[in-house]
Amino acid sequence: MQRDISTDVLVIGGGTAGFGAALGAARQGARVRLVEGTSKIGGVMAFCPGMPWGGGYPTGRSIGGVFADLTDQLCAMQPPMAEVRPSTLENFGHEVIYDHEAAVFAMFQMLEDAGVDVHLNTFAGAPVIEEGRIRRIDCTDRTGPMTIETGMVIDCSGDGDLSARAGVPFMVGDGRGNMMGVTLSFSMLNAPWDRVFANGDPYFRKEAEAGIAEGRLHPDLAKLYLMKGFHRDTVFCNSVHIRGVDGTDPQQVAKATQEGRRRCHQLARFLIESVPGFEQARMSELGPTVGVRETRKLEAVHRILARDLSAGAKPADGIVCCDNPIDDVMRSDTAMTHDAIVAEGDYYTIPFRAMVPESIGNLLFAGRLVCADPAAFASVRGMPQCMAMGQAAGTAAAMALAGGLPVQALDHAAVVASLAAQGMRGIGGDALRRHAPALQTAA
Ligand SMILES: Cc1cc2nc3c(=O)[nH]c(=O)nc-3n(C[C@H](O)[C@H](O)[C@H](O)COP(=O)(O)OP(=O)(O)OC[C@H]3O[C@@H](n4cnc5c(N)ncnc54)[C@H](O)[C@@H]3O)c2cc1C
Repeated sequence: MQRDISTDVLVIGGGTAGFGAALGAARQGARVRLVEGTSKIGGVMAFCPGMPWGGGYPTGRSIGGVFADLTDQLCAMQPPMAEVRPSTLENFGHEVIYDHEAAVFAMFQMLEDAGVDVHLNTFAGAPVIEEGRIRRIDCTDRTGPMTIETGMVIDCSGDGDLSARAGVPFMVGDGRGNMMGVTLSFSMLNAPWDRVFANGDPYFRKEAEAGIAEGRLHPDLAKLYLMKGFHRDTVFCNSVHIRGVDGTDPQQVAKATQEGRRRCHQLARFLIESVPGFEQARMSELGPTVGVRETRKLEAVHRILARDLSAGAKPADGIVCCDNPIDDVMRSDTAMTHDAIVAEGDYYTIPFRAMVPESIGNLLFAGRLVCADPAAFASVRGMPQCMAMGQAAGTAAAMALAGGLPVQALDHAAVVASLAAQGMRGIGGDALRRHAPALQTAA
């Protein structure tokens, strides 16, 4: 049976960007519906359970906003369900490690408290465009088709299928068709940290080299990135990357996921048999599907350029701070690099204009489909930044609706002022240091 429903703001995709967008709009008083194709919010965060939130503390200070609300809530639980730790990799600052289920529960609760209508297992399909605006979107859930009429759309789908169908131009990967590797993650339980991490190399290169030479590990596993999980003696394995996968093609994603399972089980066996500390360990939390890093980048009125980020650009419409390195995972070859993008102690801000399309008056986008050149993309894509981009898009969408304005005509200063009032820090060309205390954490 066909159903027709309506909303002020329709958020497509419930990843970290969609979470921020829905909260941003709902907290400004808009009626918000969030449509998510899977059974859980989180997106990549749900596909890779335990993946740390990196990039939330440029120069050691919190970016604020919904990222800080969520982190503070988890850290304040008894017992605490999150912790802020320095990354073990070069050029990454502090990151938040958390209990996955507690975090997902808290995120659903925040959406519920804000009055967001969450549609799970629901796919957004074709947009219907009239007079330069998306009037409604055809969606489907198990009960059949449903049309959602909407005032504003925020595309937080990671891949931007809907915006592409609406005619928004886009670039795929690095512009030559190369997209970063996709990854299937898992954890190991009962792996005493004092033994596992005795050697200090987060990539376990010596062990990996031996495993590959003996034919026991796939050749792409030259760097095993293993890190301490949130719970004691758990180890998070962000190691199994599959190259050359088009994340917009469901068949390729399904095949890559099965290949990932094969390599993850092989790696777990190798760790148990050959790496000190894993003798009594067992595998847990194998991701339900690969996490996709990169597909489409939508074209906006402004493209984020790596050269601006390197210069520490803090434009007047900057909506979130960042100092993440250029985190490239096997985009065009087997290399994994994370070179610094800004000078030590500096940061840049992501401009609001990178989420505004040229021509559709009621569409914004946020998250990993933001308009950026390939090197800039590799830096801006952290989950805290995705939450913040979402919050900014949600806030702006509510403002555009209230003012009866196309998103292209929004007053950037007003958007930034509203975000600052919501606790986002160091934005709009402002200095992060003046507004946020430095982190006090154990090294
Ligand atoms: C393997 C991997 C490791 C990473 N490591 C880190 C890290 O350590 N720290 C960090 O901060 N960041 C990391 N990142 C980057 C970060 O996780 C992502 O950039 C970020 O999560 C992207 O969030 P998003 O909301 O933009 O998109 P996604 O997380 O991709 O979410 C998009 C959501 O939209 C839904 N969707 C798509 N199309 C539709 C549709 N038509 N209808 C309904 N729903 C739809 C999807 O189901 C999904 O839930 C990593 C990424 C990957 C893949």
